[in-house]
Amino acid sequence: HIQRPQDAGRVAEQMVQVLSHKFDLGDQHSFLGASVGIATFPEDGASAEELLKNADTAMYRAKSGGRSQAVYFEEGMNTEAVARLMLDRDLRLAIERGELVLHYQPQLDLRTGAIRSAEALLRWQHPGRGLIAPNRFIPLAEESGFIEQIGQWVICEACSQMKAWQTDGLPLGQVAVNVSPRQFRKSGLVGFIRDCVAQTGVSPTCLEIEITEGLLVDHATVVEGMLGELAAMGIGIALDDFGTGFSSMAYLKRFPVDTIKIDRTFIEGLGRSADSEVIVTAVIAMSHALGKIVIAEGVETGEQLALLRKLGCDEIQGYYLSPALPAAQFAAFVRSRELVAS
Ligand code: C2E
Ligand code: MG
Ligand code: MG
Repeated sequence: HIQRPQDAGRVAEQMVQVLSHKFDLGDQHSFLGASVGIATFPEDGASAEELLKNADTAMYRAKSGGRSQAVYFEEGMNTEAVARLMLDRDLRLAIERGELVLHYQPQLDLRTGAIRSAEALLRWQHPGRGLIAPNRFIPLAEESGFIEQIGQWVICEACSQMKAWQTDGLPLGQVAVNVSPRQFRKSGLVGFIRDCVAQTGVSPTCLEIEITEGLLVDHATVVEGMLGELAAMGIGIALDDFGTGFSSMAYLKRFPVDTIKIDRTFIEGLGRSADSEVIVTAVIAMSHALGKIVIAEGVETGEQLALLRKLGCDEIQGYYLSPALPAAQFAAFVRSRELVAS
């Protein structure tokens, strides 16, 4: 019998703890986790229905707060839940209404001084809230699974844009798109990309997909096969935010990764912390030894650029060169750089 709200929390914590132990399933080590939401009578609801609904809301908070924990329901959570629900509903309409847009951030080849490639970055032109950054809605779409449809739209849009630029004679080698781990859960991803490339008529070598280290660590075997198929088609594979996850050199050897993108946090420290410089130097050396191209993300100053050049980095991307731009502005930017270079 639970008499006081504090007791509920204690029981929940014990449950979470008991469940968190490793257990063996055949010859596999397995882990279970639990996220617990707590609502108490009569403070959080007068009926069983209301109590369950509020406990559910608290449980979602426990999940999004990092899982394996117990969270008490609080009044403010409902308004937040409603806001999320509305955002989720709006997002489902966003594709139909044509509110999603891709902006393109140029990537500079330090050896030639030319813009070799671009990263496509998603934005949501919301009718009421203006331009919404991906970090505000992609986590939600990943949770709901809607990222699969959004991701498909992104791939198609980037391929047709690339084709249009090539038809216009824009000297651009490759466009990179970010692909969420969740998109790899569907075995149809490779086929979808293949169809998209075929339908738009863009060469597969003009497309690169950006994945994160977590994908390689968590679902290694399935992902290895899928990446292998994409690589066999000629599609480039880049490892995004490198250094923030838990992958190792072994992963870099095992998977067909062409490009390593050094995370912005390490670039930020260049010129300021000796550690950052050591890490960047090591990543560049290691990547080159494995035959991979290195891009530095989030380059904001000329000092960082000069240092990266000195360290032998292949490409840079960042506000110092340009933020992500709408397609037409991006093309104009590439053309203006060509004039300077020639
Ligand atoms: P990311 O793939 O690592 O993209 C780089 C982010 O850093 C972009 O933010 C870019 O605008 C920003 N950035 C570029 N240069 C600088 C700089 O010099 N300084 C600073 N402070 N920031 C810089 P953005 O566009 O807000 O995207 C954030 C994240 O959202 C991306 O990180 C990516 O993980 C995700 N994302 C964006 N578009 C898509 C998409 O189409 N699909 C999926 N699944 N994820 C996407
Ligand atoms: Mg990226
Ligand atoms: Mg990144």
